[in-house]
Amino acid sequence: MPIDIEFTPLLHRRTKIVATLGPVSSSAKTIGELIDAGVNVFRLNMSHGDHASHTEVFNTIRQVSNQKKAHIAILADLCGPKIRCGLFENGSINLLPGEQVIVTTREVTGKQGLIPSAYHQLNQDAQVGTQLLFDDGKLELLVEKIDQTELHCKVIQGGELKDRKGINIPNCEISAPALTEKDYADARLMLGLQVDFLGLSFTRKAADIELLRDLMDEFDRPAAIIAKMENHEALINADEIILASDGIMVARGDMGVELNPEEVPIAQSQLVLAARKLHKPVIVATQMLESMLTQTQPTRAEVSDISHAVQSGADAIMLSGETAAGQYPVEAVAMMDRIARLNESYQWQTDHFRSLQSHSATPPIALHHAVANAIASLSLDLQVYCVIVMSQGGTSAAVVSSTRPSAPIVAASPKAATCRKMNLYWGTVAVETDTDAIEAHHKLASNLANEVFGANPGDRILLLEGFNINPNQHSPAITVLTV
Ligand code: PGA
Ligand code: MN
Repeated sequence: MPIDIEFTPLLHRRTKIVATLGPVSSSAKTIGELIDAGVNVFRLNMSHGDHASHTEVFNTIRQVSNQKKAHIAILADLCGPKIRCGLFENGSINLLPGEQVIVTTREVTGKQGLIPSAYHQLNQDAQVGTQLLFDDGKLELLVEKIDQTELHCKVIQGGELKDRKGINIPNCEISAPALTEKDYADARLMLGLQVDFLGLSFTRKAADIELLRDLMDEFDRPAAIIAKMENHEALINADEIILASDGIMVARGDMGVELNPEEVPIAQSQLVLAARKLHKPVIVATQMLESMLTQTQPTRAEVSDISHAVQSGADAIMLSGETAAGQYPVEAVAMMDRIARLNESYQWQTDHFRSLQSHSATPPIALHHAVANAIASLSLDLQVYCVIVMSQGGTSAAVVSSTRPSAPIVAASPKAATCRKMNLYWGTVAVETDTDAIEAHHKLASNLANEVFGANPGDRILLLEGFNINPNQHSPAITVLTV
């Protein structure tokens, strides 16, 4: 049998693209080009920049998106309990393998042989035998003795250690609070601007997410919360974290330091499935097109990695340095878009995205699951043109999307904020519609199918409505309509 590679890329990409903004990409012009190339969600990384610059970029994204009538969401990524070293007298020191050095929790400037930890409980959390990894695992120390504030260490893997580089401590429960003072200040700024998503780095348990929810009570409009899964503790508590959050990120950068590298894809596969089963969106992040920081073409391995994420049914794939600081930000997004659409075309023609249905669960299953399963079956059996979902807060759209139906989804909501949030969901095109139009729903559904996906008279579509923000008032209805 010949191997077929002649697939026409899907017109409507199902997998969403998240792009991090930074120095090379924060102008209105580049933001516009990135949207045109396929970005659905922009990420602002709170690890860099100040409040004035974040506010400016935030407002620019909103302005450009409004001009383009695109429901582009903004994800502000909080630093969380990321541990870092302090500053050095000359900006960096050199570590030689076999050398003895001291890591101190005292507030001092570092020098040759002395590394300050900006995290002051390190001496309490670490033990003799603890491995300390610096700068994404490039440098390694072994703790041999702890004397009050001083951790006496042997250098295992040497190299240059620069100011404020990250410290990872695999398998160590860090007692630092989930939200630092900086996180509270950053979160308040972003909630005041009505950000769509807040990302929480190094989420360890559901209670971390609840802390952030409590803060939102002070604000008119809450943001959805993305739990960043980056260490062992997050994997152990994965189910409770997914339930408590509004979505997760497989944060492979830190995860690849906290775990052995070969364990990361295994965690990724399970996290994607676990999130889909609980109807929460999942973003696969970091180093997806790393070589495009400086090259116009990706490596074969990177293309395969993106293809794998797409074929596994991740909601979104993310770019970090590639779009924040790389030489080819727009090209990187365009490349991701091409890879995703071709893979999706292949998947559509071979197995229609293998809609996930929980038939194996013992009935009765939850109402949302059951209805979503019915939508996925009808979508395939009737070969419908698209699925229209009327969604106030976005829950119905998330549930339908998580089954990965064969037909694309149009999610209509009267709220712009809901539309932006739904733009992260796999296969979902969000459309803002006024409430009156939603009441004339059959007509509206046909019009949307025609306007968004070009459905013609005679095409079949599905309409889902009737889920309520208050679960006691759910009265879901699926209607099969002919345009
Ligand atoms: P970061 O998170 O880029 O904020 O570190 C993502 C990751 O660790 O992969
Ligand atoms: Mn990280």
